[in-house]
Parts: sequence; structure tokens; C-alpha cells
Amino acid sequence: MNQLKPLIARIEDVKIEAEGVKTYTLSTGFPFLAEPGQFNMIGYPGVGEAPISLSAIMQDGSFKHTIKSVGRVTDFLKDFKKGDELFFRGPYGRGWPVKKAEKKDILMIAGGVGLAPLRPVIQIILDRGELFGDVSLICGARNEKNMLFMDEFKEWSAKISVYLAVDEAVRPEKWQHHIGLVTDLLDRVRIKPERTIAFICGPEIMMRFICRGLMMHGMSQSSLYVSLERRMKCGIAQCGHCQHSGLFVCKDGPVFSYKEVRGLPDGVL
Ligand SMILES: Cc1cc2nc3c(=O)[nH]c(=O)nc-3n(C[C@H](O)[C@H](O)[C@H](O)COP(=O)(O)OP(=O)(O)OC[C@H]3O[C@@H](n4cnc5c(N)ncnc54)[C@H](O)[C@@H]3O)c2cc1C
Repeated sequence: MNQLKPLIARIEDVKIEAEGVKTYTLSTGFPFLAEPGQFNMIGYPGVGEAPISLSAIMQDGSFKHTIKSVGRVTDFLKDFKKGDELFFRGPYGRGWPVKKAEKKDILMIAGGVGLAPLRPVIQIILDRGELFGDVSLICGARNEKNMLFMDEFKEWSAKISVYLAVDEAVRPEKWQHHIGLVTDLLDRVRIKPERTIAFICGPEIMMRFICRGLMMHGMSQSSLYVSLERRMKCGIAQCGHCQHSGLFVCKDGPVFSYKEVRGLPDGVL
């Protein structure tokens, strides 16, 4: 099978998620199996492709992508409607070590669109909560208009401790959560370092400070997992665009332990 040949997916639903961000529900007519944290190359002929994480993997074979429009490909997709078709290749990459997290406390920390790749992990926890210990989620965004999945937090809060932070509130009188950095919220979670695993996704500078903060709480580099964003073209470790120090972000990642990627020459981690 040609791994680079794109397949067609039909848009079943489009939801406005936050400012400039939409979630697309896609179906293919054949089974689509993927792991939380994996991504597809999403695109359109003549326009290009962009790596986009799976924000939901459904049992009926459909899946979701939550996409922020920032440039050529993502801007092109932003006007797509229900019934339209787009192209994808995947799923690619190594996702979150969910199996390793069984019987442990899980701390998830997300910044901005970084919450999208964690959403399939949250779904597993909601469905199979008995497999895990205490689960906490810390989410940060520039302001409340940029916070993804706001309508889902209530359901999540029944099983997960959810903490929200915005850098600045558009309507501070209505915002009942933290105003400030996500790192401020680390002290609100009771972290038992020996039994906690952390999944972190967001801007690299945020992940750097979160990892340092968690190490000050006694966590080891090997129990911190980060999802890296790098420019990539092929998605299957052939072209070398995302290669750094012997690691292909598309194939060896995008999820890595902090121990594996701390100090990568091109990064700030
Ligand atoms: C594994 C992976 C998973 C991702 N998952 C998601 C997701 O779920 N949702 C989502 O909205 N986005 C996600 N992204 C980011 C997304 O791939 C980029 O925003 C997208 O490639 C931009 O493509 P474009 O053609 O629209 O923009 P372009 O026209 O290529 O660029 C627009 C701007 O973004 C910058 N840029 C583009 N790609 C990157 C990059 N990888 N790193 C840093 N800067 C970049 C460019 O320098 C430019 O300033 C993910 C990226 C990776 C690597």
C-alpha cells in the first residue's frame, strides 16, 4: 500500500470551537483505528498538507480534528462545510503512553489548541476511569474566547479535576477561574510524584516551564510526556523535515518523554 496516497474523508459536522478554531467530524466509510496523540496529514490537492492531531476517535470509525486557522492549508479548510470532502493520510506517529498510565495518577496540562490531542485521552478516562488513579487537567488559553471544549468541561469535571486559566479575561466579572499562567495552577494539584504521569501539550515555552515546575514537585524527566510540533512534510520519516538529533518527530513522536527531547538543539525545552 502506498503510505503517501491520501484518502478521502467526508465532513459529517462542523462545530465552531473557539475564536478561529473549528472541530470537523469526518467519516471514510471504512474502519479508522488510531491511538490518542496520533495525527493525520490533512490537506487538499493544489493547496498542501498540515499535520493535525486526532481530537476524537470514535468507535463507529469516524474521527475528529480540531483545527486553528493560521496559514495556507488551515485557512483554506476553515470554510469547509458539512458534506464537503477533504483528504488525509494517517494515522501517524507515536501517541500518549496511555497503557503506562494505568493504575497511576494522571496530570494533563494543555495550552491553547494543545488540548485537542489530549481529548481522546480524556475520553478513555471518562469511559474507563477505574483503570486510573486521580486524574487532573489544567488548561490555559489566552482568554476565554480561545479556550477549547468549554461546553464539555462540565461533563469532564464529574470524573476529572479540571483547572482553567486565562492570561487575560475578556469579561473578568464572568470568569470564575484563574487569571494568570497555567504554571500558577500546579500548586493546586496534590501531586504524588512516585505515582503520577504527566501529559503536556502546548507552546514549547509553556511545556518547558511546566516540566521544570513538575520536576520541582519531585517528578522525574521520564514520567513527563510532551507532544512536539515541528514542520513536517511526509509524516513517515522519509523526508527528514522534522528530524533533529536522530529523532523523527513524525515517527518517533510527536509524543516523547521529556528525558528524550530535553535540550534538542532547535527547541526551547
Ligand atoms: C504533530 C502535530 C500535530 C498538530 N496538531 C494540530 C491540531 O490538532 N490542531 C491545529 O490547529 N494545529 C495542529 N498542529 C499545527 C499545524 O500543523 C500547523 O498550524 C499547520 O501546519 C499550519 O499549516 P498552514 O499551511 O495552515 O500554515 P502555514 O502557511 O504553513 O504557516 C502559518 C504560520 O504558522 C507557522 N507554522 C506552521 N507550521 C508550524 C509548526 N509545525 N510549528 C511552528 N510554526 C508553524 C508558520 O511559520 C507561519 O508563521 C499540529 C502540528 C503537529 C506537528
